[in-house]
Amino acid sequence: MTTVIAEPAAKQPGGHDILGKARNPQAFRMAARNWLEETVAAEKRAFPDRTADDFYKRQQWWMAERNKVGMATPHWPSAYGGADLSLSNQVIVAEEMARVGAPPMSLFTVSLNHIPATLIRWGTPEQKSRHLPGVSKGVVWCQGFSEPNAGSDLASLGTRAVRDGDHYIVNGQKIWSSYSMYAAHCILLTRTDPQASKHKGITYFLMDMKTPGVEVRPLRQVNGSAKFAEIFLTDVRIPVENRVGEENQGWTVAQTTLSAERGILAFDAGERLRYQMEAFHADALRADAAWLQDPEMTREFARLFAEMQGCRRLLRRLMRENEANAASTLETVVYVKVINTTLKRKVGDFMLRAQGLQDQFHLHGAEERPDQPMNVYITSFGGTIAGGSNEIMLNVLAERILGMPKS
Ligand SMILES: Cc1cc2nc3c(=O)[nH]c(=O)nc-3n(C[C@H](O)[C@H](O)[C@H](O)COP(=O)(O)OP(=O)(O)OC[C@H]3O[C@@H](n4cnc5c(N)ncnc54)[C@H](O)[C@@H]3O)c2cc1C
Repeated sequence: MTTVIAEPAAKQPGGHDILGKARNPQAFRMAARNWLEETVAAEKRAFPDRTADDFYKRQQWWMAERNKVGMATPHWPSAYGGADLSLSNQVIVAEEMARVGAPPMSLFTVSLNHIPATLIRWGTPEQKSRHLPGVSKGVVWCQGFSEPNAGSDLASLGTRAVRDGDHYIVNGQKIWSSYSMYAAHCILLTRTDPQASKHKGITYFLMDMKTPGVEVRPLRQVNGSAKFAEIFLTDVRIPVENRVGEENQGWTVAQTTLSAERGILAFDAGERLRYQMEAFHADALRADAAWLQDPEMTREFARLFAEMQGCRRLLRRLMRENEANAASTLETVVYVKVINTTLKRKVGDFMLRAQGLQDQFHLHGAEERPDQPMNVYITSFGGTIAGGSNEIMLNVLAERILGMPKS
């Protein structure tokens, strides 16, 4: 039985009926473009300095603006407050967002993608009606999966949960939890049966970050940002009703969460890279940059540009295939992740060499100056690690897709 959480988004005040045009791709694109151009200009007026301190306020402002026109969660099923926006229309929105340089919804990555994927598939009716409507109102979720000794080998996690009546008592440590310092809730993986084989003794919880015993310690990154944190858990009491799925079935639930990390998110990143490269080249022309006189460098840029266009085409093809099959294939997930993030690494490396020393001082946080070559370079490493490192993805490609033997 489907739980109806909210009415589908309807035409909103403000004159932007974007979703009403969803059946006509060209009209939909133009409506999205008009709304985005207006809203992004307003965003730039509201937050002219783009300081790191403004990050949270800017993200919340952006979510509220999206919500006004039904564009906060349009990709969700209408039964849960979304608009059943097709993948091809999601692609249009991603293209238009990249074109105008709209802020990525970084603070809400888990709220917008992991939460619906997980709760719609595995949540109880109460969990769905309690948590899904909050997302479009700006409730921030974080992911507490990785641990100091469990990253690629996530199933080795050691954070312990022990049943105590109608609660579980949780002790342990999580790491690399993005934006957890802003989060109201956390999706948490714990070990409930240390005797079982490692994939079988894991339980999945929804944790209120205000629960006594939860301590968040931000980690300072090399570019000055602090968007990750460690989460220390000491005798944290989580009610049984916050468990997702059965006890010791958390690994299966987590697979649903992890599969929500790619697809349209990677497409969005690919589109943004295109505009980053175009702007980099246009700036170089304006400044008569020295690298434009170096045939080796210009050839390299042309090769990377062609590679980027090839990636965009491939991503489009895979998205179309996924839409036709109504599912992401494992192959798509692996390709999208590895190809996109590897290319971004190469582009970041090129930009840094082309720009020379001048850009390597006065480094700003990635939220303030995302296009600064040093930032493109530094943040490109994270992409190849987050959501399963590229080495692990290549192992998956070799073993599960190509059928090669395990080494
Ligand atoms: C930008 C970013 C955001 C993140 N956000 C979150 C978050 O919100 N929540 C969260 O829980 N975690 C998050 N993470 C953590 C991320 O999931 C882990 O960093 C990742 O799973 C790798 O784990 P690790 O860092 O422990 O590296 P390790 O697993 O220790 O790996 C170290 C190196 O060894 C390689 N390696 C490991 N095993 C193999 C193997 N079998 N074969 C070949 N090579 C191997 C890896 O590829 C890597 O290069 C984030 C990470 C990044 C970079």
